[in-house]
Amino acid sequence: IFANRKNSPGIDLADCNQQSHLDQVLNRLPKHDFFQPLDQWLNEQNISANNLLDANQQQIQQVCAQYAKRLAKESDYAKLFVTAEQAQLPWRNHLAKRVEVIQKLAEQLILQQHNLLFLLIYEAGKNRQDALNEWREALDFCYYYSEQIKHFYPRELEHTAGENNTLYYQAKGTFVCISPWNFPLAIFLGQIVAALITGNTVIAKPAHNTQLIGHFCQILLEQAGLPHGVLQLVTGSSKALAEKLLNYQPNYHDKGCYLAGVCFTGSNHSAKTIQQQLHSHPHTVKLIAETGGINIMLADASALLEQVIRDVIESAFASAGQRCSATRVLVVHQSIYSEVKNKLIQAMAELTVDEPQLQTTDVTALIDQSAKDSVEQYLNSDFISARIIYQSKIASRFAQQTANHNFVPPTLIEIEQISQIQQEVFAPVLHICAYQNHHMVLKQLQNIGYGLTMAVHTRNQHLWQQIAKDVQVGNVYINRNQVGAVVGCQAFGGMNLSGTGPKAGGPNYLAAFLNEKLVCENT
Ligand code: GLU
Repeated sequence: IFANRKNSPGIDLADCNQQSHLDQVLNRLPKHDFFQPLDQWLNEQNISANNLLDANQQQIQQVCAQYAKRLAKESDYAKLFVTAEQAQLPWRNHLAKRVEVIQKLAEQLILQQHNLLFLLIYEAGKNRQDALNEWREALDFCYYYSEQIKHFYPRELEHTAGENNTLYYQAKGTFVCISPWNFPLAIFLGQIVAALITGNTVIAKPAHNTQLIGHFCQILLEQAGLPHGVLQLVTGSSKALAEKLLNYQPNYHDKGCYLAGVCFTGSNHSAKTIQQQLHSHPHTVKLIAETGGINIMLADASALLEQVIRDVIESAFASAGQRCSATRVLVVHQSIYSEVKNKLIQAMAELTVDEPQLQTTDVTALIDQSAKDSVEQYLNSDFISARIIYQSKIASRFAQQTANHNFVPPTLIEIEQISQIQQEVFAPVLHICAYQNHHMVLKQLQNIGYGLTMAVHTRNQHLWQQIAKDVQVGNVYINRNQVGAVVGCQAFGGMNLSGTGPKAGGPNYLAAFLNEKLVCENT
């Protein structure tokens, strides 16, 4: 019944046949019934459903938001937990069915690839490459977790005299999954698939600005054969909903219907709020939290400069810097600092900052106006504004009308030391500084307290091995970029301010969704 794991093959966007195929896909409204209501609203905005590439992505995003609003409905919180509880037993006891559903979900993701890419690009504002990578990651989570579950089969432990001892793994119960807009397909499904394959029931909250993807995935899971009540979606503003969901306490009659765990990806601040809310529950509630990072890339004097430039451009500016793993500070040995800085500026000048659906776009706009406002507030602060040394150009048709778009151009800020950065800026904003002594760098990093990713560029093996051993971060990357962890290969997740672990896409993740039960039989 278990899947033979493989990772999905990608699509090569350097191939112009693939690009022109994508042109066709992205130029018209998807055919699935789910997308029909968009047609009329697009028309009202004078956008032809057969000529989308010429439209402004932000307008299509607004139409998606209008549709998402219509789909949203008030949830009855007590009923959510009761429904989840009722669906629990048959689901928990039927491993083969669970594996089958997740494998069928993977088939659906393949069949619906174009519709999902449409949503990732128009609703979530991802460029083509990012959308493809995310689709692929979602598929890989299905493959990986449906194979990993085999490690949680009952295990015979050592027998004591006249006794057989067996260790069983059982679903914890009902999980609430809260996922972010920056990976509305891969993280949304990654959390849900892990909770489901281990036999839990799920109440999932997609991020408020990427709800259509959430709704569409629910349809795909139903088509894959997911029984009623095993997954329920709730929608609405993150704060209000999270509060209502997490503070829900069962009444006397629904005693069994409680919250067993929360799987959360988002800011460190929200993770802490959730943790406090969970304290009010009578029992302990499992929290799996993956939060942000202030991630550095360190280049020592022996680093290959071209490689550093290529990798920092990818890690800091791809996905418009809207990844928790992204490079926030490039720390360069003082002997090569000026050269790296100049080369980096030259490379930044080559970036195409434009709408996500277009072939040539490297860097897109931020997800929404409030994201842009908070980044601008950061960039306009006295301390930072005086230190901005370069900004890439936005596509000329947007350059004049700053109020009507959410672009923040790739920005380079020169600082004296990393301890000057105290907040994660979720945008294509990179800080750069010179260093003399890497021990000082690591010390400052530790004082900041985040621990998600770090990249080291060096040809000194002793140096990187030392850093990899000492540094308190979850993912260390040597002589490469520091984003885009591959499921099953680069298990992903941080420590300290960056999360609780275990790592998503790694061998210990599923264990967090399970209880252990030991049965000792006197023979
Ligand atoms: N897993 C992603 C990566 O390796 C980042 C996930 C996130 O931004 O939350 O880049």
